[in-house]
Amino acid sequence: MKFSQMFIPTTKEAPKDATLPSHQFLIRAGFINQEGAGLYNFMPLGKIVLDKIRAVVKEELDNAGLNEVQLSFVTPTTLWEESGRASKMGLEMLRIKDRKGSDFVLSPTNEEAMVNLVKNRVTSYKDLPVHLYQINTKFRDEARPRFGLMRGREFLMKDSYSFHSSEEDMIREFNLMEETYKKIFTRLGLEFRVVAADSGAIGGSGSKEFMVLANSGEDTIVVCEECEYGANIEAATRAKKETKNWYELTAENIKMEKVLTAGMKTIEDVSNFLSTPKAQSIKAVIKKAIYEEKEEVVVFFVRGNDELEETKATNAVDALELLDANDADILDAGLVAGYCGPFNLPENINFVIDNELKDEVGLVCGANEIDYHFTGTDLTTLKDVKYFDLIAVQEGDICSCCGGKLIHTKGIEAGHIFQLGTKYSEPLGANFLDENGKSKPFVMGTYGIGVSRLVATVVEQHHDDKGCIWTKETAPFMVDIIVSNAKKEEELTAGKKIYNDLKIAGISTILDDRVNARFGFKMSDFELIGFPYAVVVGKKLPDGLVEIVNRKTLEKEEVSLAEVVNKLKKLI
Ligand code: ATP
Ligand code: MG
Repeated sequence: MKFSQMFIPTTKEAPKDATLPSHQFLIRAGFINQEGAGLYNFMPLGKIVLDKIRAVVKEELDNAGLNEVQLSFVTPTTLWEESGRASKMGLEMLRIKDRKGSDFVLSPTNEEAMVNLVKNRVTSYKDLPVHLYQINTKFRDEARPRFGLMRGREFLMKDSYSFHSSEEDMIREFNLMEETYKKIFTRLGLEFRVVAADSGAIGGSGSKEFMVLANSGEDTIVVCEECEYGANIEAATRAKKETKNWYELTAENIKMEKVLTAGMKTIEDVSNFLSTPKAQSIKAVIKKAIYEEKEEVVVFFVRGNDELEETKATNAVDALELLDANDADILDAGLVAGYCGPFNLPENINFVIDNELKDEVGLVCGANEIDYHFTGTDLTTLKDVKYFDLIAVQEGDICSCCGGKLIHTKGIEAGHIFQLGTKYSEPLGANFLDENGKSKPFVMGTYGIGVSRLVATVVEQHHDDKGCIWTKETAPFMVDIIVSNAKKEEELTAGKKIYNDLKIAGISTILDDRVNARFGFKMSDFELIGFPYAVVVGKKLPDGLVEIVNRKTLEKEEVSLAEVVNKLKKLI
């Protein structure tokens, strides 16, 4: 390909809202352009990279025995009503009407349609397993589309769905997908970690995320310094943090007492005043839980030196979402901000206590009365309490697998695999006949990869202050031949010769033959776009020499015209 024939509109300007390097560079280097909030066009270079990533994904999935299909992007709303997700998906699902007034949605994911496709076509255990995938457009009306391709509204996803006659067979496929995803991300040149994830609304027994390690990642992941343990903070667990017996530390014959703590609304104030460690107190976090058809104030209790993890809390009360409760919400619920505790709560208040507080004796907590706290409490006396893992694992907490130290790191979710079970096959009546002729719902797995997000992810992990640095499997072209001054016949001829030789050698190459661009401009385009290697044909040509530039290290090496192709073959 010749630069002069290719549409590569590079610019010095990055859009104002572009904070991530990947967003800035992909736009500046002419890979993508923005059409609207969360809507992007792929320009020629962007399309090449997208297709390369797509091809790696396809090749590995085909190798693993999956079949590619392509489902309609527009799906009838009735399908979503059958599964019960029409209301659950909320505002992320974009709904449209056709000219007859019928309701449709732009697919945010395709469980229902895929179940529908297989249902009644696969009827016997003999025809299972079946595993279908597509690499297709998705639309999610994200509340905050941002970071360019990272969180678009329209994006390209690989989604696949497997159908099995048993749980064991689904788990076998789940493990195969974990291995397949590892191959895909390794081939793309990404440093990643497979972590335990929250299965939240999807349910099921197991879910893992593939996190590409990058400081700009939106997800916090907890990893162990010693062992392989890794989990999204939404699902991370730790060894029990406090093991002191507060009862023994506090008093011989402990008794719950109400003490005056005038004006002391924070754990800090109360702990200082009573000279007790924060860990010996109970913190109340008051939230408003949003459900499909109602909302209510809910109180979560965690230890004074812990923080509430929102996703865990949301799951604990099975809500769609948790919002901060405002003063009016708190007042209406009969609660007292700053003095809320699990004893003497107003009736009908839904509350959950963190697992690590179970059966604790001797803790301090709010008395649900202004200016008062209780000391010497005994949680074993509370009846019908819902205990749940609610805490956000902190850095320095102890790994429950090996006793090592846990730390936080940031990751970009590039893929997610789920053991679904019968969550969709049951409501959609998708059944098969087992060995005994008994009708059973399919046991399913579902697996996603953010294909367009990966374009940005590669850059996020591989860039410097000058621009992108593409990896071998993702580079739009491996080599950029820069003809220093394309008006000079001998330089252009030498450039073309190398170009043809590289083509024969099977190395993807672009020839920067632009007559009107100066050398410095071509060089900065090379650095911005991020082809792995450049060959500069310039000043030393009369001596039979050209220069190979390594984009990653920016190191330059002089080689003879005769050697250049062999040298590049070796490097690549
Ligand atoms: P996130 O937590 O980032 O919103 P998700 O859990 O909603 O992701 P899934 O439903 O598991 O994502 O979708 C599968 C994959 O699709 C994700 O792992 C991610 O790589 C990609 N993806 C999800 N939402 C977007 C988006 N808005 N833009 C680009 N890619 C996305
Ligand atoms: Mg999402």
